[in-house]
Amino acid sequence: DVYELQMTRRGLHNKIQDMRGAIRVYVRVRPVLSGDLEAEEKASLKGDGEALRMAMDDVPTAVRCSVDGETLELCANTTRLTKAAVAAENAKAERRAFKFDTVFGPSATQQDVFDDVSMFVQSALDGFQVCLFSYGQTGSGKTHTMQGGAGDGRGLIPRSVEQILKTTREMRRQGWVYTLEASFLEIYNETVRDLLDPAAGSAAKASFSSAGSSSSSSSSSGRSLPIHFDAKTGQADVPGLTKRPVDCTSAIDDVLSTAAASRSVASTSMNAVSSRSHSVFTLHIRGENSHKGVVVRGKLNLCDLAGSERLARSQAEGSRLRETQSINKSLSNLADVFTSLAKNSSHVPFRNSKLTHLLQPCFRGDGKTLMLVSLSPTTASAHESLCSLRFASQVATVQSARSTVRGRTAAAGAGAGSSTLRGIRLNSSM
Ligand code: ADP
Ligand code: MG
Repeated sequence: DVYELQMTRRGLHNKIQDMRGAIRVYVRVRPVLSGDLEAEEKASLKGDGEALRMAMDDVPTAVRCSVDGETLELCANTTRLTKAAVAAENAKAERRAFKFDTVFGPSATQQDVFDDVSMFVQSALDGFQVCLFSYGQTGSGKTHTMQGGAGDGRGLIPRSVEQILKTTREMRRQGWVYTLEASFLEIYNETVRDLLDPAAGSAAKASFSSAGSSSSSSSSSGRSLPIHFDAKTGQADVPGLTKRPVDCTSAIDDVLSTAAASRSVASTSMNAVSSRSHSVFTLHIRGENSHKGVVVRGKLNLCDLAGSERLARSQAEGSRLRETQSINKSLSNLADVFTSLAKNSSHVPFRNSKLTHLLQPCFRGDGKTLMLVSLSPTTASAHESLCSLRFASQVATVQSARSTVRGRTAAAGAGAGSSTLRGIRLNSSM
């Protein structure tokens, strides 16, 4: 494979080879924020209604990360204790240790996180169907990690696109011509909506019916775009989805702001909807080397999942209830997919939700999946954090189930090594 040799040239090949077929699980714990302070103060109102005065340092935290960046300890039953009380209670508290591929502590920067996933992102250029999921309760930092803010605060979406643009420019000198296009969709109540189509935003607002769409949804909250999975090519597509050409980094800023505007048009309370919908940013990559007669197609999906928290029963009535059910349905279906993959089941329920139907190719042979679990550090969130970590551990078992297979192929396939050698020889003649 000519492209693989190109990757070898940049010293990436072996690392990418190593990640083939594995589902990685990373955990990121955000720092304590001033909002946590208010939440703690509200939670610890004294009998006389006077709020407990706290400093940021006094916000009790339940999550402790190891320096090795692999293990994490959760103190699960210290909800609403002050720091001093937590220390006193430590002996009694239920402590649970978890181990993952990588754990980012509160001081990890956006650059630190990107450095660890950049290899993974880069493999979309190698023709892989790549998906990075951001999972966690609302307020844990999913969107911060994915989109982030300006400058050094930039998240994985802009950083990934920048890196891919940079690489494709370098590859141009070696005869590769790339076409990059971005799409951005939202899945809300099992309805797929185009965030880059101005008409789709008003359509969702007007809640018109779904007549005419081939895989229409029964939802009344707007027309759902169809998802087509082609078993022959192993590709999933959303016909009619807007794709914007991406030829410079500023094109991505436009895509992100259009999507953000579209989300706020469709709803009076943007944050409420965005926390209960999944958003999927996709970079569609096509590379062609006409001298060598090679075409490579890859996809990079960056998926910001709906908040994993269960809504309180009292809140979940009427349309809220339907929302809760479909969010829970699609998140629990995502968990079912991972469980089936871990068991190597012959049937994996990809088609049970729009999300897994769309991202199915990322779980298959040419796919790569990375689960990034966000945690809030506070004791008030300890229960939700425990749920997230259980989910993460479940996903991590897919990795071990698959790495057994990987070990076998790696042992049989000394080919990977020899192609590296060929790569070096070829490189030196270039
Ligand atoms: P979610 O998308 O999971 O609901 P957000 O990404 O919106 O959560 O994060 C909630 C708040 O916390 C935001 O104000 C965000 O800027 C802030 N935040 C999240 N992670 C970090 C971090 N690692 N460093 C600093 N601020 C963060
Ligand atoms: Mg968010």
